[in-house]
Amino acid sequence: MQPTSPSDLASTGLTWSHRFSNLGEVFTEALETAPLPQPYWVGHSTSLAERLGLPSGWTESSELLEAFTGNHVLEGSQLRASVYSGHQFGVWAGQLGDGRACSLGELAGLEVQLKGAGPTPYSRRGDGRAVLRSSIREFLCSEAMHGLGIATTRALCVTGSDTAVWREQKETAAVVTRVAPSFIRFGHFEHFCHTHQHTELQALADFVIAHFYPECQTSTAWDSNPYTALLAAVTERTAKMIASWQSVGFCHGVMNTDNMSILGLTLDYGPFQFLDGYGPSHICNHSDTQGRYAFHKQPSIAYWNLFCLGQALMPLVKDQDNAVAALETFKAHYEHAFAKAMAHKLGFAEAHENQRPVIEEALQLLAAEKVDFTIFWRRLSHWAARRDLADASVLDLFINREAATNWLASYDALLDTTPDAPGAALMLQTNPKYILRNHLGELAIQAAKRKDFSVLHALQTVLEQPYAEHPKHDAFAQFAPDWAANIEISCSS
Ligand code: AMP
Ligand code: MG
Repeated sequence: MQPTSPSDLASTGLTWSHRFSNLGEVFTEALETAPLPQPYWVGHSTSLAERLGLPSGWTESSELLEAFTGNHVLEGSQLRASVYSGHQFGVWAGQLGDGRACSLGELAGLEVQLKGAGPTPYSRRGDGRAVLRSSIREFLCSEAMHGLGIATTRALCVTGSDTAVWREQKETAAVVTRVAPSFIRFGHFEHFCHTHQHTELQALADFVIAHFYPECQTSTAWDSNPYTALLAAVTERTAKMIASWQSVGFCHGVMNTDNMSILGLTLDYGPFQFLDGYGPSHICNHSDTQGRYAFHKQPSIAYWNLFCLGQALMPLVKDQDNAVAALETFKAHYEHAFAKAMAHKLGFAEAHENQRPVIEEALQLLAAEKVDFTIFWRRLSHWAARRDLADASVLDLFINREAATNWLASYDALLDTTPDAPGAALMLQTNPKYILRNHLGELAIQAAKRKDFSVLHALQTVLEQPYAEHPKHDAFAQFAPDWAANIEISCSS
């Protein structure tokens, strides 16, 4: 650890709380530091730092650099890892836990967690580390999802160290600092149910309800059982999150129950991908040989995962019919949220049954030719501003121009049925110009490996405001190059 300079502004004024770890020793374990030598900053989010109350100029602080690498424990902070279990690829995997994540405590009501800061009692055969490549991907994608308005954990910063970490090949270590109201997963509940620790299961559920779902305490729905109300509320949030994924072409890649947030946040960015060409059955995770987590399966997998959560909550919910009924609300919530998201993509404030054929046909046309999903919606948004059928660059995206022209005419006619629809104004706020395409992440990673963080910073700037125009960075809004097809993203991170 580097000595703290007397002028260091770091730890002063930061008030840490420990609501989750105060719940009891059974939930988390204290950790020792496992320092990484000579850390350096890779990237950071100024807006999140402000939200957390970090002092301005915080990235000048060597103490914070060491702290966010896990080398040094700030005054009032603690390093703790939590235990959870889970279903991985549909199979019960037993105990997992934070194998390379550790919580520092909470700042301004948000939990701050390091990922890659060293081994924990739950590391099993892992090294407790994360590589620069995957840490940059997690950092950029957290902030990109936040910019898109999708529920997600966030990322404060990434630090790197030249320490070697072995994956398929030699890479270097990094630590990403993640932030969320809570990192509690479905797998936490599964853990305490499957180990028959029902008192702890109830304490965990009570904690989640008290802090994040207070309305469940007083709900009279579900025979006034707050745990069934919790299950219903998590079902609703999860359905909405998945609908937002499907509407921007986000594929998570490894939707195991231990990667599902109890708050309905997108969590654990690993082998994710934003679709380039629209392929509904696209599998982004090279390790997912069966395609369990293919893009179009995400809604049904979320539903399956919610059933695992429901099963884990059964000792508290007690009434099986109510549990199933709470879970079955998924379909309606999902369809409602997806229809609304698609209505917005088309420029309508509200979803209406008459939009369905136009949406379905658009998705069929996009799938038939693997048309770039993001560029299609963005070009359509610009077209909607003028609605000139003779001047439509969106049609240039299709080989079957006749089918595309017919579709555009039917969409044009649909717009006529709703003269007060917000149209382009809404579409340009709904259909992003910039998404974190695999190849863009790859460019940022390759440069960062040479200690050039300029690509990462530029990319972060556009992803934080993905609906705005950033003329200097138009290249980030272009089609994926051919080499992008060769990028293999696996669970290795
Ligand atoms: P993931 O596939 O990243 O969601 O991780 C699944 C489980 O493996 C979690 O319990 C992780 O903490 C653990 N894990 C993944 N990578 C490592 C690693 N390098 N060292 C220790 N544990 C790990
Ligand atoms: Mg995970």
